[in-house]
Formats: sequence, structure tokens, C-alpha cells
Amino acid sequence: MNDLDPALQRVFQTVLDRNPGEAEFHQAVREVLESLNAVVARHPEYVDGSIIERLCEPERQLMFRVPWTDDQGNIHINRGFRVEFNSALGPFKGGLRFHPTVNLGIVKFLGFEQIFKNALTGLPIGGGKGGSDFDPKGRSDAEVMRFCQSLMTELYRHIGEYTDVPAGDIGVGGREIGYLFGQYKRITNRYESGVLTGKGLSYGGSQVRTEATGYGTVIFAREMLATRNQALSGRRVIVSGSGNVAIYAAQKAQQLGAHVVACSDSGGYVVDEDGIDVDLLRQVKDVERGRVADYAARRPKAVHHEGGSVWDVPCEIALPCATQNELDGDAARTLVGNGLLALAEGANMPSTPEAVQVFQEAGILFAPGKAANAGGVATSALEMQQNASRDSWHFDHTEKRLDQIMVDVHQRCAEAADTYGQPGNYVAGANISSFMQVADAMLAHGVI
Ligand code: NDP
Repeated sequence: MNDLDPALQRVFQTVLDRNPGEAEFHQAVREVLESLNAVVARHPEYVDGSIIERLCEPERQLMFRVPWTDDQGNIHINRGFRVEFNSALGPFKGGLRFHPTVNLGIVKFLGFEQIFKNALTGLPIGGGKGGSDFDPKGRSDAEVMRFCQSLMTELYRHIGEYTDVPAGDIGVGGREIGYLFGQYKRITNRYESGVLTGKGLSYGGSQVRTEATGYGTVIFAREMLATRNQALSGRRVIVSGSGNVAIYAAQKAQQLGAHVVACSDSGGYVVDEDGIDVDLLRQVKDVERGRVADYAARRPKAVHHEGGSVWDVPCEIALPCATQNELDGDAARTLVGNGLLALAEGANMPSTPEAVQVFQEAGILFAPGKAANAGGVATSALEMQQNASRDSWHFDHTEKRLDQIMVDVHQRCAEAADTYGQPGNYVAGANISSFMQVADAMLAHGVI
């Protein structure tokens, strides 16, 4: 952990005092503040304008009761959240997560990260995040629908295409977005397509949105490798997770000629030396709502490891695509020892601060999630653009836009890192470039 400039240390202490017990939020803020040491020395106006303090305090935080009835008639009470963090660049924008671990601190860490990620895309979107401690696993479609309807019955009054535009995240995919959109439309009597992204293609969704986060992560890895005249082709790759981001990261890596040999879920991991069969994985996870163990049972050479760590599998490229803090210092040392060249975070903050330090000290190309996984929200912004113009683009056109956006995100990070004397440090580059953009807009808007 690096020391903070005294002005930044004061901000951090305020964050700790005001947000007790929110460890992930503290971690996310600390990482950004460490990168800003170099910025405040050159730009005292950001400190004088209390920009950094304001950035660390959400514009609005909502918590509400979500009652729903299961198929047996039992009543359940979950908690819903929406943190509208920063709207300097555009309407609040960020996903909804349904997972039993969701609490206010998790939503705040994700919302805070989202501000910077969204700025990096170069598109006009602010940062927000939400969700619930509801666990969709094992629930019937009818139960998930009733839950989504109940959540939206409160959430609808806070969102809108010019206000706040939610999307999916862990536990929230096409099925959930469909139910949420249906209820929003019913309550408001408005066909407001741009109020949610990640919609189905039949009712205002965008081509490539489903694939975008995973694809974008691999494109970012491709760009990093190119700075060292290396490529993905022929490289041994592992992804963690087996959800939306993991599946499409694996697919894009394969399209670029890589050999993807492992993936995981919270129960364990699979090594498939024949290469992960993405179509089968998608069938098992998306259609049958099964586990990676079910995938392994259908593949001749695949081996399922109950528990354990997917990071023990030797690889040259690692793509963590599951959840926060899934990769610690020991896992990082194992990866480095096994010959890791590059790591791009498909998930949000999957590497602990110690792991990041291990990668950086070993000279590994390391892409933080807020840069590497920005393709998802960028394509959400393209979905909003299509909704606003009542248009619908082809797959190839949309994928080209995504590719160019990721090339630009990479470029912004690399240039900011160079300008502030930390060449090759994508963490510093991502934080500095995005901070400056948001900070300048906040200064222009006055004290609000
Ligand atoms: P999904 O729900 O589709 O998949 C999540 C995957 O991660 C599952 O395989 C799940 O396994 C695993 N996982 C979740 N929690 C844990 C845990 N505590 N321990 C181990 N494994 C876990 O989510 P997404 O693929 O959409 O999201 C994955 C990550 O990517 C998240 O960090 C999310 O914030 C980030 N992200 C997603 C974007 C998107 O467009 N979807 C955009 C940008 C970032 P299991 O089924 O066993 O729980």
C-alpha cells in the first residue's frame, strides 16, 4: 500500500469514518486515491474545490423493502438498493446485482468503480449501481418474476432514461431484465426503451450487449499484449466464473486463436484440455441453469475439481470473471510462478490489493476491471443511443464500435500513465484519465 498525500489521506479518513464496516468500498476508494497522488501535486484546484471529497459521497442512496411470495405461498422480505453515485457526465448508469452477499457497502464499491469505468468509455454516462440480497439460484421463473416485479414497484420512481439507467450484473441476465422492463412499462404506462439496458433483441436490446463485457475484456488484453509485440494466438488462457462475462471472454479468446482450458463457479473449477466448449457451457449455464460440474460430466477429457482454486491451473493469460477479491496474493504468486504474461479483469475488483502489487512488481501486464470490462457498459450506452434514435444496428457494425471503444479505452489509460510518469501502469492510467474527466465536469457544474 502506498502512502497518500496529506489532502488525500484526510479524504480517505472521512470515507472510513462515514462508511464504517464497508471494506470493499474502502478498498475501491483507496486504490483510486493512491493513483491521484500524482494528480493533486499538479492540480491543486481539485483539492481546493473539494472535488475528491464530493466524488466519494454518493449523490443519492436508496434502500427499500422488497416483499415477495414464493411458489408455496411463503412471504420473503429482501432488501433493494440503488446508489446513484455521480451524474457529472450523464445519467446514472450501472447494473443491478442479485446475490446473497449484496449489501450497501458492496453496492457503493461497485457504484464508485462505475463512475470511472463509464468515464473511460468516452460516452456520456454517470455512475450508479444497485441490486438486492435476493438469491435467484434454485428459484422458479415465476418466483424470479414476482421478485423482479416487487423490486421495480419501488425502483421505478427513481429511474428513467435521463435519470438513472440500470442493467444486469451477477444474477441479473436477460430473464430478469425482461421482467423488470415489463413491470416498469406497466406501472408507468410508457414504452421507455432507454430506461434499462441488456434488453432482449425483440424489444429494444442491442446486438453484442450480451457478449460485450467478455469480448471487451479480451480486446483490452489483445491491446496490452500488442505493446510488447505479443498476441493471444496459441496462448493458454483460463477464465474464472462461468457466467455472462466468463462465457464471452472465453469465446472471444478462442476467436483470437487462444486455447482456453479452464473455468469455474463457486463450487469448484473445470480443466478441459480439449479447450472449453463455449456452446455447451452456455447451454448448461444459461438454458439448464446447471453448474460447471454438469459441463465436465459431458466432456471426455474435462476434470472437475470440487473447491480448490482455478488459479492453480498454469496459464499465460488469466481472465478473472467471477467476483470481487477472488484472486489473492498467494494465487497471484502461483500465477506468476507458472509463467503468467497478462491478466485482464472481466469482473469488478477481482484481484486483492496484494495480488495487484505482486503482478505489478513481476512486470505482468495488468488491466484493472474498470478499464478492461468497460465494454459492457459502453455497449449499454450504444443500446441507449439506438433506443433514442429508434434504430437497431447490425452485429458487425456494433462489434466494430465496441472494438474501437476498447482500443480507445486502452489508449486513454496508456497515455495518462505515461503523462504522469508511470508507463505501463494501467491502474494509475485508468484512475487518472477518468478522474480528470469527471473532476473537470464537476468543477464546471459548481458546488452541487
Ligand atoms: P453471472 O451471474 O452471469 O456469473 C457470475 C459467475 O461468477 C458465476 O459463475 C458465479 O458462480 C461466479 N461467482 C459469483 N459469485 C461468486 C463467489 N462469491 N465465489 C465464486 N464464484 C462466484 O455474472 P456476470 O458474469 O455478469 O458478472 C461477473 C463479474 O463481472 C462481476 O464482478 C460483475 O460485476 C462483472 N461485470 C459484469 C458486467 C456485465 O455486463 N454482466 C459488466 C461489467 C462487470 P455461481 O453460479 O456458483 O455463483
